[in-house]
Amino acid sequence: MPVTELKIRTLGDPALTKGACLVKEITAYHRKVLSGMARLMYSVSGVGLAAPQVGILESLIVIDIGTGLYKLINPKILKVSGTQISEEGCLSVPGVIKKIKRAKTVIVKAQDENGKHLTIEGEGLLACVFQHELDHLNGKLIVDYK
Ligand code: ZN
Repeated sequence: MPVTELKIRTLGDPALTKGACLVKEITAYHRKVLSGMARLMYSVSGVGLAAPQVGILESLIVIDIGTGLYKLINPKILKVSGTQISEEGCLSVPGVIKKIKRAKTVIVKAQDENGKHLTIEGEGLLACVFQHELDHLNGKLIVDYK
């Protein structure tokens, strides 16, 4: 799929519930997809976007809560602590806001677009967005929370 044509898939699209595969070898294609996803996220004033939301079932996410852009490959939550409840929306579920209980702090490991291994600690909003985007990689949406 040409990266310039990335579009956000919405509720009912099968790509959103299938789950993503791990990226085995990071290539120029993945770097292009991540850049395209970041552009798309900024164009709709989002704070995070996962590849299944654009129909690509690979483990790629972009996040920017206003403190800098993360382009991450194969992110995985290593450790969680505390709890927080916040109101969440999702670009793929327009018009829905849900109160969701999540961990307050997460430690995430991932690779950057050059394959470098990173460990990132997120708290508050950043922790929430990490958990939301990782849910997308597992095919889980905010409407799946009670
Ligand atoms: Zn979402």
